[in-house]
Amino acid sequence: MNFKNVTVAGSGVLGSQIAYQTAFKGFNVTVYDINNDALENAKERIQKLKPHYQKDLGATEAEVNSAYNRISFNSDLAKAVADADLIIEAIPEVVKIKTDFYNELGKVAPEKTIFATNSSTLLPSQFAEATGRPEKFLALHFANEIWKNNTAEIMKHPGTDMKVFNEVIEFAKAIGMVALPLHKEQPGYILNSLLVPLLDAAQSLLVKEIADPETIDKTWMVGTGAPLGPFAILDVVGITTAYNITKAKADATGNELAQKVADLLKTEYIDKGKLGRATGEGFYTY
Ligand code: NAD
Repeated sequence: MNFKNVTVAGSGVLGSQIAYQTAFKGFNVTVYDINNDALENAKERIQKLKPHYQKDLGATEAEVNSAYNRISFNSDLAKAVADADLIIEAIPEVVKIKTDFYNELGKVAPEKTIFATNSSTLLPSQFAEATGRPEKFLALHFANEIWKNNTAEIMKHPGTDMKVFNEVIEFAKAIGMVALPLHKEQPGYILNSLLVPLLDAAQSLLVKEIADPETIDKTWMVGTGAPLGPFAILDVVGITTAYNITKAKADATGNELAQKVADLLKTEYIDKGKLGRATGEGFYTY
């Protein structure tokens, strides 16, 4: 893996974190976003990450400043990728936006550039053709608060070259991630493939009035040695996100249990301002 120059497209919640983490580990980073306003926001977002690196990782002021200085900003896509070894795409989770972006990127990026998508829910095969270079395209999925929650799920689509897959695994390690390779496409990668059914099962037990959240969590924690039970995890994820996922499932499938879960989350938690750990109260009080 000889990557030196990494471009991050999209500088929102995740893009700004990916850019800063990559620069912090010594790579030259270019941030690309749609216009100068978006780039000004990006600068502000990235500046705000510095104290987290100091507090959580013990980084010095010199280190956080030199990481920032390794980042440049550009709203011209061709210029932003002119010498990129890798581009990591973290633009909105909307099929049309991503497809249009890859059509354009495929035209302007140099032949050497590998493309990686940070998409949480869309499979890379969906965009492989639009990239114009399916063999150099794959998914590289990070978690929010990347400097602490340092997982990188690296997922092939059927056309990804194994050499590219292995290089991106090495890159993920080089930026301080625990690299988690997925050899085939899987919606939800590994983490959500495990977590979503656990959280669904816990919420089903609750709406069927089988047990209360504390008892369900205690069962899981004592029975498996896990530090948190499913309802404590839901508080971390946020009740709004949990509601959106369950409501979408209820609407798409007509599943009555999912609808009951969605109703419960809405009336007993969201409407009462109990949105999880971020607001000080969810299933538990913090
Ligand atoms: P966000 O809305 O915070 O940021 C999106 C950024 O993309 C904005 O800066 C916006 O200006 C920019 N943008 C919009 N259109 C663009 C275009 N055509 N070209 C370039 N930039 C464009 O979104 P986010 O939460 O950072 O999510 C981005 C991607 O990362 C999504 O695919 C999402 O699934 C994934 N992701 C998000 C999280 C999370 O916790 N937020 C976690 C893992 C993965």
